[in-house]
Amino acid sequence: MRKALGRRARRDEPLAPYTAMRVGGPADLLVVCRTVEEVVEVVGMAQAYDVPFLLLGSGTNVLVADAGVRGLVVVNRARRVRVEEDGTVWAEAGAPMAALARETARRGLAGLEWAAGLPGTVGGAVVGNAGAFGGDVASVLRSATVLEPEGTVVERPAEWFEFGYRSSRLKGARGEGWVVLTATFGLRPGDPDALEARVAGALQERRARQPSGATMGSTFKNPPGDYAGRLIEAAGLKGYRIGDAVVSEQHANFILNAGGATAAEVWALIQHVRAEVERQFGVRLELEVERVGEW
Ligand SMILES: Cc1cc2nc3c(=O)[nH]c(=O)nc-3n(C[C@H](O)[C@H](O)[C@H](O)COP(=O)(O)OP(=O)(O)OC[C@H]3O[C@@H](n4cnc5c(N)ncnc54)[C@H](O)[C@@H]3O)c2cc1C
Repeated sequence: MRKALGRRARRDEPLAPYTAMRVGGPADLLVVCRTVEEVVEVVGMAQAYDVPFLLLGSGTNVLVADAGVRGLVVVNRARRVRVEEDGTVWAEAGAPMAALARETARRGLAGLEWAAGLPGTVGGAVVGNAGAFGGDVASVLRSATVLEPEGTVVERPAEWFEFGYRSSRLKGARGEGWVVLTATFGLRPGDPDALEARVAGALQERRARQPSGATMGSTFKNPPGDYAGRLIEAAGLKGYRIGDAVVSEQHANFILNAGGATAAEVWALIQHVRAEVERQFGVRLELEVERVGEW
């Protein structure tokens, strides 16, 4: 397969630089795809050679194992976007959500302001039903084209994704072998100045509330009727660290890589936080981030 991919294939490529947490060992093979056609071609080759593959957008919601990922990692940088006057927005899955939010607000289309400053790609956002400030993908997605494990490309309506709180039918193990190629959002006309003000407000909120640095965002989902961050803080875990993995002082649901953290340290910290919160409050926190690779 490496031969067939030619110079596009990077062998034993460290994955840390492809993630927001800056953690993770090598992929056996890695290909950066810049068009949807290339994603289809490369994933098709993996299927033909029976090589397991993992899709990565911006790597902002994953914890990659220190041992890395066996098989092929496809980094999706297909990022074309088309905005129609009637509010239909079509984007390739590698397009950054934050840029889409800014651009649509500027053009007087309402519905994506909540995604201002949201790290990650359209594909990652669809898979995880990303959301913030009361909005989420589920409320604006009309349909998405999906490359199915059998190699066919099918357009699926939003209902097909079975969206829930930070979940869809493609999140986690159930999503293996499926690739989101493009997404179509249905936005409404709005006043550009008001929309841009909402975008600016969302950005300001993020800057005020969230720590900067290497992180995966919210580590855990909020349990019903409560906040993971509140529980972790109440458990006295702000600033707790294992090696270079640290619970943020600013927002306790964020874990930071203070420089040289390993995936093992991050995972040990996650387990410690989960055990402490369960011991003190009887609440079992569910992971929002996803562990990938050889654990
Ligand atoms: C600082 C910070 C703040 C954050 N704030 C928020 C927030 O407010 N709200 C929120 O919901 N999330 C937040 N996140 C998490 C993250 O931004 C979102 O989950 C984002 O949508 C992930 O996109 P990604 O491209 O980085 O996905 P990745 O991390 O690359 O991938 C995530 C999962 O999706 C799969 N995947 C990615 N692209 C595709 C595709 N095209 N087809 C099939 N599978 C695919 C991957 O295999 C993996 O399983 C934050 C993260 C950080 C670092």
